[in-house]
Amino acid sequence: MGRSSLRVWLLVVSVLFAMAVVGGIAITTFIIVANGMQSVAADATARIASSASTLLRDAIADADEGAASQGLVGQSRASAALETVRAEIPALLNRPGVGEAAYALYSANGALLWSSSSKAVWPDQKPDRALASLDTRTTSTAVHSGGFMSGLLDSARLPVRVSHVPIELPDGTTGVLDITYQSTTEERVIDAVRAPMAGLAISAMIIMVLLMQTSMAWVLSLVDTLRRAADSIDAGQLDARLPDSGSNEISALAKSINRLIERLQRRSEAQARFVADASHELATPVAGIRGYTSILRAWGAEDPIVRDEAVDAIDRESRRMARLSGDLLNLLQADQGLVLKTERFDVNALVRDRIAATASRWIEKGIDYIGPEDEDPLVMVGDPDRLEDVISILLDNASKYTPAGGKVVVNTKRKREMVVIEFADTGQGIPADDLPRIFDRFFRSEASRAAGEGGFGLGLSIAKSIVDSMGGQIEVESEERKGTTFIVRVPRGRV
Ligand code: ADP
Repeated sequence: MGRSSLRVWLLVVSVLFAMAVVGGIAITTFIIVANGMQSVAADATARIASSASTLLRDAIADADEGAASQGLVGQSRASAALETVRAEIPALLNRPGVGEAAYALYSANGALLWSSSSKAVWPDQKPDRALASLDTRTTSTAVHSGGFMSGLLDSARLPVRVSHVPIELPDGTTGVLDITYQSTTEERVIDAVRAPMAGLAISAMIIMVLLMQTSMAWVLSLVDTLRRAADSIDAGQLDARLPDSGSNEISALAKSINRLIERLQRRSEAQARFVADASHELATPVAGIRGYTSILRAWGAEDPIVRDEAVDAIDRESRRMARLSGDLLNLLQADQGLVLKTERFDVNALVRDRIAATASRWIEKGIDYIGPEDEDPLVMVGDPDRLEDVISILLDNASKYTPAGGKVVVNTKRKREMVVIEFADTGQGIPADDLPRIFDRFFRSEASRAAGEGGFGLGLSIAKSIVDSMGGQIEVESEERKGTTFIVRVPRGRV
């Protein structure tokens, strides 16, 4: 996905998210308001029906009394009372508290006696009215209903209910008063809420989208800066670093990438140094061989002594070259990640075997070698050949750097899940300044160079690479003129 399409995608997601959240809240609030207004209207209908019917009943009783006081009886008293009521009813029901409704008064046989307006007359309500007059119980029926989202997109239209209240008429029959409540006030409230709600919802959506877009633009700009910085780092030019100030996740990513570049840089510098050192080391024997070849050409035929010396020197130098190329090959293999065997073997036997193999050297030099004290086998699972390489390098060094009369003690032990092998000698020791560098490739201390000990400074780096790939550690402790101890720790494996 390209960068611009990522922006478009994020824009679409933020708009949809804002619509879902803000729109959802706005619609829910609107539904709550609309439903609240519906129940307010229902309550108002019940209240008005009760007040209006009481008023009408009182008015009928008063009118009946008035007709009686005029000395009227029977049908004429009833007609006079009804006439009085009909005359008074408009003023009676057009006062605060009951004036919001429309009224229609029907006789027992369903004839319309009076109505406040055409809105009060519902011809289809006949059966309900008849039921109310027979039952003399108040009933109510819906003449139209509004949906629960009424007023969301157009003018609000709340449900209208007609209450049928039985009323005893002056002639003793039961008529019915129809009360139709017009919920215009509640509808006006809903209509008034709609526009500000919509305005508020749209503004909230716009603000939300803008906020999301601004923060995303900020994040994308950080990513863009990283990308540009990363582009500027050429494969060979590993000096550049990504901007990593700040404490956000992008800075953390930049810091990780910078650490990676640093490792790559160190590796590439080490490789360059390695190639330079290797060619320098190879140049010395090659120069020697060429020099002795010239001598051989010039005087070899006439002078047998010169010839023999030159042949010996060429032989020595070519052996040195062979040793060096062998060491370089070992180092390369260890660097590329060794494929390690998983064999069960006895470390003590391996150490004793190696000490015996180098015996000629240390006996010749007059050094004492003391093998592992522990007679019991120390079994581990790993690669015996590689561990043998490490042991050989450390025994070889101990004999190289320990003068005649010295002592080399090798001890083995098991510490938790690790096998520990210690090589302690009473040799020249390593100067404190050199200690941090002795595992570096081609590093040799001044003392060993001066003493002309024949190594290339690769033994310890080979040993360290092998131990590292086994998942172990190699450490050194040394004191000048007293001696040196190398400690190798390797995992014991599942024995
Ligand atoms: P080299 O082939 O020179 O022995 P190594 O990598 O094995 O190379 O050792 C690096 C340097 O560490 C040596 O040149 C020497 O100065 C020092 N060194 C290693 N082992 C010992 C030791 N047992 N006693 C004193 N110095 C040592």
